[in-house]
Amino acid sequence: VLKMAKSSFEYVKKFEHDDSLLPNTWIVIRLDGKCFHKFADDHNFTKPNDLRALKLMNYAAYTVLKEYSDILLSFGQSDEYSFVLRKDSCLYKRRSAKLLTTINSKFSSSYVFYWNKFFEHLPLKYPPCFDGRIVLYPCDENLIDYMKWRQADVHINNLYNTTFWTLILKGQLTPVQAEKRLSGTVSADKNEILFQEFNMNYNNEPEIFKRGTILLRKSILHNKVNKSIIVDVHDDMLKDKFWKENIYILSVKKSKQNLMYIGPTTEII
Ligand code: ATP
Ligand code: ATP
Ligand code: MG
Ligand code: MG
Ligand code: MG
Ligand code: MG
Ligand code: MG
Repeated sequence: VLKMAKSSFEYVKKFEHDDSLLPNTWIVIRLDGKCFHKFADDHNFTKPNDLRALKLMNYAAYTVLKEYSDILLSFGQSDEYSFVLRKDSCLYKRRSAKLLTTINSKFSSSYVFYWNKFFEHLPLKYPPCFDGRIVLYPCDENLIDYMKWRQADVHINNLYNTTFWTLILKGQLTPVQAEKRLSGTVSADKNEILFQEFNMNYNNEPEIFKRGTILLRKSILHNKVNKSIIVDVHDDMLKDKFWKENIYILSVKKSKQNLMYIGPTTEII
């Protein structure tokens, strides 16, 4: 057995601390773009929703799922993405910093690496960055409520932003006037403004805008063999139906066999 020669400097290693996460607990990693209101302006993002930007986020998340089979599902909206790791994951021995930094950096570098795929004639002006955090959830209910919380956030923001920008772009209001008009309004009022004044039915807005994107693994039969693929959906996680149909995702057994990526669905590309 080879033994590494120890230098007199090696004691400094002892200053590092153990940051391994509690076992048998859901690990959620959420990344969020830094100052993306400015980044969006600087790159002429369409208001209120730039589809290219959302697809790039989804694609960057897809590269993360492709690399880390311990991620069971993920959810993205606006400039944020959440990744859910299996409860029994031993990835990086559950070391918190290692998990957060590698997943954040894989996501961030993919965002830059694939920028041109989605913004063909628009150069990236500077390197964007993302913050990240890890939250642990002890039971399925907490995890499901987390997912519902993030998706409810999309709905609230998107209804507001859609009405706000419609008042500006189609109603010729200034941003200050639009903000004033919307202060104190509830969801029904905003739906009504869109419908009565602009003949817009909020329900007909694209699902990706209203609900964000869920990336999950599905099993398909390919050449008579079960293969795992990653798909993007925009389902309603606030409805019990979604969890009834997909609850199996949370208890999929770890398996290294037959894993194949047919790649992102056409929607992600
Ligand atoms: P922080 O650094 O605190 O996260 P932030 O400016 O990124 O600040 P967020 O609350 O994360 O604030 O909001 C992200 C902002 O990025 C949105 O409010 C919006 O202006 C912009 N943005 C993100 N994605 C898109 C998109 N697909 N289309 C249009 N604008 C977007
Ligand atoms: P881990 O994911 O655990 O960090 P690792 O393979 O990155 O695994 P490190 O201990 O970080 O292991 O070592 C980095 C290795 O990368 C070096 O041992 C060396 O082989 C290689 N490397 C890094 N920078 C250079 C460089 N400039 N020139 C040649 N090799 C390099
Ligand atoms: Mg923020
Ligand atoms: Mg942000
Ligand atoms: Mg955000
Ligand atoms: Mg190293
Ligand atoms: Mg290294």
